[in-house]
Amino acid sequence: MAERTAMPKPRPSTTKAGGVSKTKLTAKKATRPSRSIALAITGLEVPVEVRRHRSARRLTLRINQTKRSVVVTVPLRCKIDEAGRFVHRHIDWVRTRLHALPSPITFEDGAIMPLRGADHIVQFVGPRVRGAVVSFEELGSGMPVLAIKGMPEHAARRFRDWLYAEARRDLEARVTYHAARLGLRARRLSVRDQGSRWGSCSTSGMLSFSWRLILAPPIVLDYVAAHEVAHLAEMNHGPRFWALVRKTMPDMDIAKAWLLKNGLALHRYDASEAPKG
Ligand SMILES: [Zn+2]
Repeated sequence: MAERTAMPKPRPSTTKAGGVSKTKLTAKKATRPSRSIALAITGLEVPVEVRRHRSARRLTLRINQTKRSVVVTVPLRCKIDEAGRFVHRHIDWVRTRLHALPSPITFEDGAIMPLRGADHIVQFVGPRVRGAVVSFEELGSGMPVLAIKGMPEHAARRFRDWLYAEARRDLEARVTYHAARLGLRARRLSVRDQGSRWGSCSTSGMLSFSWRLILAPPIVLDYVAAHEVAHLAEMNHGPRFWALVRKTMPDMDIAKAWLLKNGLALHRYDASEAPKG
């Protein structure tokens, strides 16, 4: 979830952990960063990225919790020193936010990760002739194992690809279901790492979803699918929008409450490849 010291800029309609964004769709071009500069701040161990935006009117600060980095957005003509001073002025805020972030869990042998809401132990089992790339196995302990075969150096990537494919499969099924119930049609569906967003819907009917939804209980993925499908008819979060979501998903409040409580924790899982060695 993005945290800012100043008012967020309008973004495409999105579903966020911990609440509902009430922003409307804006032209994407206007908010595209034109330059991004890495900045070193004394006493801060995380990367600081300065982004110059054409449409930025003042300096804003946020924490990218997936990358564990600080992002400063500044107007085009703002000097880099000014961005540095801005971070220094808010250094306590930055430190507090960074400190509050849960430690990341990377895809590695022995990691415990939820899949469709149930914890699994990830095991890199090495090359195997038979079987799928990822298979389910039972351990004596009762916690199911996700066995990933192949060379260990490729296991994290193969596991990530598999998770994306599983997320896509579940999301396609639920989007199709809700679209049929509401008499709507999605043009395309994509699964991505979209930072704090769980899903988004463009005016052209393109739905995007976070791969992390495959980690959550199925009702949560189902709710985000229903939410974005409803945006195909109502590109806002007004009463008519919520009536549509509730019509196709009467249980939506359970899923919303789950996201509010647990959504942040899902950002601990880092799909980038585990460091080598
Ligand atoms: Zn929304």
